[in-house]
Amino acid sequence: MPLHEEFPTKGLEGAPSNDIGWHFGTPVPNAKGNIVCKLCGKVVKGGITRFKEHITHKTCNVAPCPNVTEFGQDVNLPTPYEVSDVYLESEYQRLRDWANGLKTHWKELGATLMCDDVSSVRSRDAEFYYSLLDSVVEEIGENYIVQIVTDNEAAIKAARKKFNVEKKTSILDLMCSSLFRLMP
Ligand SMILES: [Zn+2]
Repeated sequence: MPLHEEFPTKGLEGAPSNDIGWHFGTPVPNAKGNIVCKLCGKVVKGGITRFKEHITHKTCNVAPCPNVTEFGQDVNLPTPYEVSDVYLESEYQRLRDWANGLKTHWKELGATLMCDDVSSVRSRDAEFYYSLLDSVVEEIGENYIVQIVTDNEAAIKAARKKFNVEKKTSILDLMCSSLFRLMP
């Protein structure tokens, strides 16, 4: 049975996400990243990834859960594959959080969006680049983007032209990234 079915966390009370780790821990209110272990009561600091290390005895970053062996007699603990699968998800989340943290800098300094050459992929036409550009600009926030730098590949050129026309954007005009690399 897939791990997530064995330990359903969806809708688990107080769980901030459906990360499997929340089956074993509860977030400490008003203390971001602190998680109480349901098995031993220890408060693990450093977020869900670190907490899962406590449960899986994975690293020396955190004391291993003393009760996990006893607990393990009744249930199957995550296999290395499943753990890495789960880790991957939380790593993705961690990167997203990191990117969100950059938004403070974007406010102060502005952002340059770079769209570099992937011209060898034929399916990536102007429409593809247009929607990609659109979604990334949407995600970052048009106000923060000072300029968009692309290369001169035909599909990208067409996409940025369409973007400028349709969005009537105030983003500064775009330049070739190969030129950009030459800039000091
Ligand atoms: Zn524990």
